[in-house]
Amino acid sequence: MPARLRLRIGHGYDLHRLEPRPPLGQGRPLVLGGIAFDHSMGPISHSDGDALLHAVTDAILGALGFPDIGQLFPDDDPRHESRDSSHFVLEAMRRARAAGYELMNLDATVILERPKLSPQKDRIRLRLAELLGVAPEAVNIKGKTHERVDAVGEGRAVEVHVVALLETTSTPPTSR
Ligand code: MG
Repeated sequence: MPARLRLRIGHGYDLHRLEPRPPLGQGRPLVLGGIAFDHSMGPISHSDGDALLHAVTDAILGALGFPDIGQLFPDDDPRHESRDSSHFVLEAMRRARAAGYELMNLDATVILERPKLSPQKDRIRLRLAELLGVAPEAVNIKGKTHERVDAVGEGRAVEVHVVALLETTSTPPTSR
């Protein structure tokens, strides 16, 4: 159980390498925030490779000082093979609420050279809000490119940063 701080902030980061879809490569379908993108490249990953949901999960877990996504859901566990990453977000929120915290707001930056995030930003925001059990106004998504520099800028990876603010929802438990 984390210390009873009224507010807790967490940061989450993830990167997935992007490869051509089969048969040219091993890339999975590109999914970000639970929304599918039509693209010739996709993530290399054990789960479905949703880098945004992975970073969201780690921001929530990090705010609480809990073990991170890699510790809770090891990538050598066959149960997580091709797994829908919304499972990880739901589990992080379940743990947050069990600890007496609710998500106040979340801000994400997705760095992706292509495809453009902007046409799907509203859908991602609504989907994330639904998953997190908060109002859409509590979720913000920003899309950026990497200015054609380095692996992300060459379209060979997707990178995500997320910060999340949590606040206590319950009165402190009485000491036992
Ligand atoms: Mg990941």
